[in-house]
Amino acid sequence: MNYYAAPVRDLRFVLEELLAHRSLDLPGFEEASPDLIEAVLEEAAKLANDVWAPLNDVGDKHGTTRHGDGSISTAPGFAEAYQAYVEGGWNGIGVSESLGGQNLPEVVASSVQEMLHGANMALGLCPMLTAGAIEALSHHGSDAQKTTYLPKLVEGSWTGTMNLTEPQAGSDLSKVRTKATPEGDHYRIRGQKIYITWGEHDAAENIIHLVLARKPDAPEGNRGISLFLVPKFLVNEDGSLGERNDVTCASIEHKLGIHGSPTCTLSFGEQEGAIGYLVGEEGRGLNHMFTMMNEARHKVGVQGIGVAERACQHALAYAVERLQGRSPRSGKADCAISDHLDVRRMLLSMRARTEALRALALTCAAGPAPRRWIPRATASRRTHAAMRRRGSMC
Ligand SMILES: Cc1cc2nc3c(=O)[nH]c(=O)nc-3n(C[C@H](O)[C@H](O)[C@H](O)COP(=O)(O)OP(=O)(O)OC[C@H]3O[C@@H](n4cnc5c(N)ncnc54)[C@H](O)[C@@H]3O)c2cc1C
Repeated sequence: MNYYAAPVRDLRFVLEELLAHRSLDLPGFEEASPDLIEAVLEEAAKLANDVWAPLNDVGDKHGTTRHGDGSISTAPGFAEAYQAYVEGGWNGIGVSESLGGQNLPEVVASSVQEMLHGANMALGLCPMLTAGAIEALSHHGSDAQKTTYLPKLVEGSWTGTMNLTEPQAGSDLSKVRTKATPEGDHYRIRGQKIYITWGEHDAAENIIHLVLARKPDAPEGNRGISLFLVPKFLVNEDGSLGERNDVTCASIEHKLGIHGSPTCTLSFGEQEGAIGYLVGEEGRGLNHMFTMMNEARHKVGVQGIGVAERACQHALAYAVERLQGRSPRSGKADCAISDHLDVRRMLLSMRARTEALRALALTCAAGPAPRRWIPRATASRRTHAAMRRRGSMC
C-alpha cells in the first residue's frame, strides 16, 4: 500500500492553537503571516501527496544503481521529484533571505519537512543533508566559500553531504584517518568514508562534500581534526562547473527501509588526491561539524515523526479493512479488527504518541516562548471561564 495523506490539519493545530504562531513575533519574520503559512502547508502537502509519496514504493523496490564508473542512478522518478522540489523553491524556505532563502520560521520548514519525510523518507534525506551543509558553511565558511557555494546549495541545484564515518571511526571520531595534505591554496584529500548519505547521485548538478580529515602533522585525537569542503565538480571562478574532482563512490551500502537513498562508500584521492578547501579554523573540524550534526539531530527527529504519521495512517487503513472475529460492540461476525478494544487501544496509542512528539518537535523549532506568552488554547479556556463567570455562557 502506498497511501499517504499529509497531516495539514494536525500541523496547523500545533502551529496555530498550541504555539499561537509565536515565531511570527520574532524579529525578521515581519513578512510572514498566518495566511501565508497556511498556503505554504497546503502547497507542500500537494508535493508530498502527489509527487513524492507515489515514489516511496518505487524507491524501496528499485533501489539505486551503481555503474562501473562509480556514478549512481537513483530510482525512476526520484531525480524529477527532486527537481519539482527545487523548482518550487522548497529547499530554501527556512533559510534567511540574505542567503537566498525564503525566510520563513524554522517551525514552518520543519512542518514541511515532516510531510516530505512521511511521503518519502529516502528522498527526503537528500535535502536534509543539504540543510546541514548550509548551516555549517554559513557559520564557519569564509566569505568566498559562502559566495561560491551557498546560493546553489540554498536553491538545491547542488546538494550537500556529511563525511564523518570511516571503518575504524564510527561513534569515536577521534579515530578519523583521512588525510589532508596542504598544496598551494588548497589541500589534497585522501581516505575512505563510509555510510555517506546521498554521497553520489544523478539528481543534482554538483555535490558538496563536507569532510573531516587531518593534516599530516596534526595531533592525534579530536584536536587534530579539521573540516574540508570537497566538491564533486570543481567550481570555476565565474561559478561554472569545472573538472571532476578525485572522489568516487566505491559501493552502495546495504540497509533496510531506505533503499531509495544512496548510502555510499566514498573514496577520496585514489588518483592525484581530491582537492579540498579548509572550512573554518584548523583543528576545530569536529566543533564546526557539530553545527551540521545538531541541525541533523532535530531533523532526524522530525523525520521519525513523518514516518510515525505514515505508520499510523497505514495501521488504521489496515485495521478498518481487515475482517476478523465477532464485534464486541454489535455482536456481528466478521467485524473489522478496529472494532476490537485492544486494537483500538493500540491505534489510539500510536496516534497520541505521534501527535505528542510532533508538538514537542515543533515547539523546539519555534524557539523560546516570549516571557508573557500564553498558548492560544489556554487563553481561550481563560476567556471561556471569564465569560462563564459573567454569566454570558451557560
Ligand atoms: C542509514 C545510515 C546513514 C548514514 N549516513 C551517514 C552520513 O551521511 N555521514 C556519516 O558520516 N555517517 C553516516 N552514517 C554513519 C553513522 O554516523 C554511524 O553508523 C554512527 O556514527 C555509528 O557508528 P558505527 O556504525 O560504526 O557504530 P559503532 O560506533 O561501532 O557503535 C556500535 C554500537 O555501540 C554503541 N556505542 C559506541 N560507543 C559507545 C559509547 N561510548 N557509549 C555507549 N554506546 C556506545 C553505539 O551506540 C552502537 O549501538 C550513517 C549510518 C546509517 C546506518
